[in-house]
Amino acid sequence: MTRGRLVVHAHFYQPFRVDPFTDRIPDDLSAAPFRNWNERITAECYRPIAELGIPARISWNLGATLTAYLAREAPTVLAAFAEQDRAGGGTGIAQSFHHTILPLASLADRRTEITWGLRDFAYRFGREATAMWLPETGVDLATLRVAADAGIKAVILAPWQADVSHVDPRRPYRVDVGGGRHITAMFYDGDLSGAVSFEPAATADADRFARERVAPRLAAPLPDDVPPTLVIATDGELYGHHQSFRDLFLQRLVAPEADAGRTFDVVGLQAAIADQEGHLHPEIRIRDRTSWSCHHGLLRWTAECPDVPDGRWKGPLRAALERLAGGIDVATEAIARDIPGLDDPWAARDRYVDVVIGARSGDAFAADCLGSRSTAADRSRLLDLMEAQRWRLGMFASCGWFWDDPVRTETHQVLRAAARAVRLVDGLAGSGLERRLVEDLATLRSPSTGMDGAAIYRKALSEIGQPPPPEPHPTAR
Ligand SMILES: [Zn+2]
Repeated sequence: MTRGRLVVHAHFYQPFRVDPFTDRIPDDLSAAPFRNWNERITAECYRPIAELGIPARISWNLGATLTAYLAREAPTVLAAFAEQDRAGGGTGIAQSFHHTILPLASLADRRTEITWGLRDFAYRFGREATAMWLPETGVDLATLRVAADAGIKAVILAPWQADVSHVDPRRPYRVDVGGGRHITAMFYDGDLSGAVSFEPAATADADRFARERVAPRLAAPLPDDVPPTLVIATDGELYGHHQSFRDLFLQRLVAPEADAGRTFDVVGLQAAIADQEGHLHPEIRIRDRTSWSCHHGLLRWTAECPDVPDGRWKGPLRAALERLAGGIDVATEAIARDIPGLDDPWAARDRYVDVVIGARSGDAFAADCLGSRSTAADRSRLLDLMEAQRWRLGMFASCGWFWDDPVRTETHQVLRAAARAVRLVDGLAGSGLERRLVEDLATLRSPSTGMDGAAIYRKALSEIGQPPPPEPHPTAR
């Protein structure tokens, strides 16, 4: 009989915590005795996971804002992930760059986010990624099409994202993305992933978990000798940070020496999705605009999702930032027309990732875009414009909408990104987009404090020592 297989996928990601004006992480007393939460979670989770050799045995992705942090502050941890990716035959997969909910983004933004995520992966880990973690597993057919265009072969999704009443998640499926192309979808096991995430008692003993929870689900065979495969997908931070000692649980669950007593093999995503000889994966359709962490489509990031008591601030926040993005994009094209040699600012934006991740200097990038005879002033304007686009992309990080109140630090962070972007563009174009942003933000209210969005924006900026924004126009109120 064909042995069953287990894939454990860990999604490692942190909301970006850098001050967009300085690229440094401000000290955060709530993370004591550490300087900030990145440092604390590195000590509690990323470093022990790396030191235990786990990345060679599981499937994982490290978000790009996290790889940037590790590269700077914990390079040995990042190097261990890279080395174990190689040792495990390619265990890492990419993630689109800023943890943006891709189906909510413009087509151009989806392309850039996916391009940047793939480039970050190649730069950090020395090979091309073939699969991608979609932030919050947010998906629609257009996103999968863009992903396939970029060379991505596979994604991991929640079982309820399959457009059938009951999907057997123990095998890969093919999604037709049009143009004769397909992308492979692996649906994780909802019960087991939920147990690992939310039932600490279930994960106290890895051998018992393997025996009592995993093995029975792999017992029933699939047709055509296809080996049944379970995928457990969770946030990586639960192993050691959200739940103590679960790094040790994970180590034991996937340990080679534990295999002897088991009826299944631990494999990576690549092996799990590989075509069975002579059998194409069955075709399936996905439910558009769905995710793993909201059972109301994508409402958690757009509107009044019932998961929070009062989500009425979320729609206006998105509307304000979308209007800002539109304004910045119009200004970008106008500024670009004034920079000799800059033919296509959007193609330049896709390549600017190399400067963001430190693979290339800004000067080299600008000289390459504008030609060696370009002036220093034009190169400087180009870099400011690209930096504005970088933070305009970053202001859509999903964390800003995830929680129950916009006075939280995650929303402060997306507002700071917006401020960085709009101040650069207003400086370059002489436009007044920031004043309009403040007016738009004034339409939302914090449920817990009653503060309006303009006041939250001012506070988010004053906390990092930035000058206050312009006052709203008198007639705007
Ligand atoms: Zn929801």
